Amino acid sequence: MAQWNRRAVIAGALAAPVVSSVARASGEVRIPVIATEEAFATPELMAALDAGPPGMTDAEKAYTSLLRGGTGAAASELTRKLCSIDARLEDMDANGVDMHLLSVTIPGPQAFLPEEGARIARQLNDGLTAIIQAHPTRFAGLAAIAPQNPAAAVREVERAKQLGLNGVIVNSHSFGEYLDEPKFRPILAALEAQDMPLYLHPRSPSQAMVGPYVNFGLSGALWGYGADTSLHLLRMIFAGVFDEFPRLKVVLGHMGEGIPYYFTRVDNRYRNLMARGGEKLGLKPLRQGPSEYFRTNIFITTSGTFSHDVLRYCVDILGAGRILFAIDYPYERSDEAMRFIRTANLSQADAERIAYRNAQELFGIKNRAFPGL
Ligand code: MN
Repeated sequence: MAQWNRRAVIAGALAAPVVSSVARASGEVRIPVIATEEAFATPELMAALDAGPPGMTDAEKAYTSLLRGGTGAAASELTRKLCSIDARLEDMDANGVDMHLLSVTIPGPQAFLPEEGARIARQLNDGLTAIIQAHPTRFAGLAAIAPQNPAAAVREVERAKQLGLNGVIVNSHSFGEYLDEPKFRPILAALEAQDMPLYLHPRSPSQAMVGPYVNFGLSGALWGYGADTSLHLLRMIFAGVFDEFPRLKVVLGHMGEGIPYYFTRVDNRYRNLMARGGEKLGLKPLRQGPSEYFRTNIFITTSGTFSHDVLRYCVDILGAGRILFAIDYPYERSDEAMRFIRTANLSQADAERIAYRNAQELFGIKNRAFPGL
């Protein structure tokens, strides 16, 4: 086991020439960093979200408005960071982050009626492509889609591939509906056919679920986000989505939204229910145990979960090949995330996988950011 911070030097692209020579002289290896759950927005999107679109619950409106403030003069520092490329690059350079894989902030196009949602997704993806073309060594990106408009979402997945985007983000439910619903199968088929990984990102629970989460801010990142997103992924597993689309790849943030901690219980209770006629509850035979889809179809990231103990546990049960570094900028602090990954007790090979190699392979990000490699 090599200490990351003794054996390796991580540096941002800005500092690369200096650090590379230092690294060469001392025999250290420079490990680049790709952060894979990094939120962005446009002022137009923020204004449309502030207008109270129909796909948001009152709890979600209250929570996001507390976090992000209003638009214009009332806009918070967070909103400014979401919308500013200059502020983002400054933060990346100051903290040694080579690349952000950008994705639209919650709830994105999923807050809007089907036609408007599809239009907003197209606009966001055109804007995202322009950002990446202006800074090809610093940014890659996940396309936004509006699943509530399945036909348009399929077209947008195909168009995003043509634009060179690296995958797709879905901010959990769309008007309370999860991706296991049959109406969304064409979207999953398009993701698989285009080899576009799906980042299943949290948002506040749906109207049907949010009731007891309203108090104490529990509907947000404190607990509700993970509760809704873990439910979403489990619904997809138990609906047999990964048997139907065996090459579909799904990424969960926040170290798997708690699910890895429950592997034993989920597998055990699934077997128990199936032995007692679980079909009566809608369960079906799966090709493999529920948790095994985390070895074949599912990846997790470190966003917002900067704990060495949790990372150790996830490396032990999943392997470093399934784990990607993420910050969750600007909702989380880059310095905290970088201190966490720099001081993690990982082998050189595992550190490289988690810091950037897995992201390069999964999202088709070439070595363009790292001329020294
Ligand atoms: Mn996030």
